[in-house]
Amino acid sequence: MLTRRRTLLGLAALPLGAWAPACSQSDRRPTPAASSNTDHLPAATSSADAAKVRWAGLLAAREKLRPLHTRAGKPQPGEWRYEHTETGQTFEEYVRGRPTVPTADRRAIVVQPIGPFDEAQHKVLELTTDYMSRYFGLPTRREEALPLTLIPASAKRVHPTWGDKQVLSQWVLDEMLPSRLPKDAAALIAFTTSDLWPGKGWNFVFGQADLRARVGLWSVYRYGDPSKGDAAFKLTLRRALKVAVHETGHMFSLEHCTAYRCVQAGINSLEEEDRAPLWACPECATKIVWATSADHLPRYEKLRAFCETAGLQEEAAFFAKSLDVLRTDP
Ligand SMILES: [Zn+2]
Ligand SMILES: [Zn+2]
Repeated sequence: MLTRRRTLLGLAALPLGAWAPACSQSDRRPTPAASSNTDHLPAATSSADAAKVRWAGLLAAREKLRPLHTRAGKPQPGEWRYEHTETGQTFEEYVRGRPTVPTADRRAIVVQPIGPFDEAQHKVLELTTDYMSRYFGLPTRREEALPLTLIPASAKRVHPTWGDKQVLSQWVLDEMLPSRLPKDAAALIAFTTSDLWPGKGWNFVFGQADLRARVGLWSVYRYGDPSKGDAAFKLTLRRALKVAVHETGHMFSLEHCTAYRCVQAGINSLEEEDRAPLWACPECATKIVWATSADHLPRYEKLRAFCETAGLQEEAAFFAKSLDVLRTDP
C-alpha cells in the first residue's frame, strides 16, 4: 500500500557502484475517476460561478503560455526519463488526484538553515527564500540557523574514500525537523552547507524529503562555491532555486513533468539540472497557481523582477515574454 511516508531523494545521488534514482516520484495516491474538469474546484472559492470563471481563466492562460515552451523531446542516455518511465501529469490530472495544497491554517513555507553559511552561501539562501515566496505566492520565512552540534556523532561521518564530512539526512528528517514544524507551515525546508548521505550503500545525496511529515532537507555542498565570482555565484544560485521549487512542488503533490522542458522534470545529475530551465511549463505553472490560489500576472511579474535584480537575464526575459502573452486578447 502506498503511504505518504515516502521520501524523495533530491536530484542524483551516487550509490556505491552505480548511479541510481534520486529524486523519486512523489506521493502517488489513487486518482479518483474523472467526471468533469470542474468537479474539484477549490473549496475556498466563494461561489460556484466565480470558481467556474477562475477555472476557465486558468485554462485560457495555459493555452496562451503553451507556445513559449519547448516539448521535452526524446530522453538521452543518462537523463532521468531515459532511466525512469513516468507518465507525467496534466493540470486536470493533478486536480483530480486531490493534491496536498496549502490550507488557510497552513500556508507558510519555512526555511530552516542548519550549520554555518559563509557570506556568499548566506546570500544564496536569502535569495532562494525570496524566490520561493514569489514562485508559490505563499508567506515564506527563514528561521534562525541551527548548529550542526545538535546532530549526534552517530548521524555524522567522514566519507570513507573522499574524506567529505557528511550528515545523515534520514536522521535529520526523522529526529530533528518534525518537532520543529511550525503549526502554520505548509512545508519546512531545511538547507545546509554540509554534505549529506541518506544511509548505508550511498555515497551522497543532494536532498531528501518526507512528504507525510512535510519536511525536507537540501544541501548546497555540491552546488559550487558562490564566492568565486559572479558566474560562480549565479551557477550556485540557479541550482539552489531549481531544487528549492522542484522539491517544494513535490510537497504540493506535483509529480515529475514529462511534457516540457520544465523545472518540475526529473533530474539525474548536476549536468542535467544545469540544462533544465528555472521556469515551470504551462501545466506545472497552472498547478501551482491553482494550488496556492494565486494569479499568473502578479506571479510572473514578481519572478521577472527577481531575475532582473539577480542578473538572471535569460529567465527575466522569459518571464517578461510570459507576461506579454498573458496580456494579449484570446
Ligand atoms: Zn523530483
Ligand atoms: Zn512541467
